[in-house]
Amino acid sequence: MKKEISNLVEISRYYGAQKDFTLGGGGNTSYKDRNFLYVKASGFSLATITEEGFAVLNRKDLAGIMTREYSRDSHQREHEVMSDLMNSLAEGSKKLRPSVEASLHDIIQYSYVVHMHPHLINALLCSNDVEMYIEDLFDDKVIYIPYTEPGYVLSKTVSEYIDKYRSRNGSDPNIIFLQNHGVFVGGDSTREIRQHYAYIMEKILSRIDSIIKIEPIDYQGPIDQVIKILSGLIHDRPHFKHEFNTLIAHFTRDIDSLSRVDKPFIPDEIVYCKAHPAIIPLAEGFSIVPESIEESIVSYQDKHGYDPKVILIEKGPVIALDKNEKSAELVLDVFQDAMKISFYSNFFGGPHFMTEEQIRFIENWEVEHYRRKISAGSS
Ligand SMILES: [Zn+2]
Repeated sequence: MKKEISNLVEISRYYGAQKDFTLGGGGNTSYKDRNFLYVKASGFSLATITEEGFAVLNRKDLAGIMTREYSRDSHQREHEVMSDLMNSLAEGSKKLRPSVEASLHDIIQYSYVVHMHPHLINALLCSNDVEMYIEDLFDDKVIYIPYTEPGYVLSKTVSEYIDKYRSRNGSDPNIIFLQNHGVFVGGDSTREIRQHYAYIMEKILSRIDSIIKIEPIDYQGPIDQVIKILSGLIHDRPHFKHEFNTLIAHFTRDIDSLSRVDKPFIPDEIVYCKAHPAIIPLAEGFSIVPESIEESIVSYQDKHGYDPKVILIEKGPVIALDKNEKSAELVLDVFQDAMKISFYSNFFGGPHFMTEEQIRFIENWEVEHYRRKISAGSS
């Protein structure tokens, strides 16, 4: 294996293994030389990736994508772009599907790029005062880009920002912050990448006064009965997993606190957990009654047209539903990651969710559907 590729595998696994940095199939990494971009393929997890998990793309073809005219209809456009991305695959890589963020990796003129959605960084990027804090905390090696729909439009937008930065500074930014999404870090060595991430973390932690201690809590409510009732209401009869701890209790303690996690922060959260959780409020006397379980689920199904993947019980646990134990566990992890984003966003002006329009775009996005299918099947 080429030294550079083994470095890429190493840095991918390093961040992939840390739940504070990446969960499930989230995040992606790349290495580029003059002619080729090696970028994580869809459906692979960074934690366990090998050389075979990287799609090799022809950079000349990738550059062509950035100048081509595509359909104005966003779905049609993403379709066309994905097929051009597939056509840029080098011989031997044809069976892989490159990450939809491949073009973004190509634009950044550093050898290595590591893209993550860590909750501490997103606590800043999903907060009301994000711009003020970025200006306050970071030097001019970073750029900040307001929320842009993922896919081709994001690549174009980032490319414009980088061009401006280049003409001003004579180099590329090492750190690109994307509102309600995550960060792209570029460097010419993996050591540099680690240094940039350490720098970001240090700055963010300098503004966080207290770290929430997450400890399990024994839930006293009738959880088995609740799940029994739920399985009669959910269509696919999926796998249920539940968890209760100090972080969850912080949000389920009352309806007002629940409203700080009832909308998504980043597109990935929608992919794994759906845009909204279902909430089961307690009846009088703080009891759970079958009627309110039924009412919550049925009205959720009527409103959204699908089953929830996350159910929150007032003063109680999070219940995750998915087709098998492992994927239900991932739903639990991703939702608790969102809780952490919400919690720490309070140090930056409070939680800032995706808007209804942004949510709808992701819900309809076929590329993401594909990824969900693949990553559920492969994990
Ligand atoms: Zn991303």
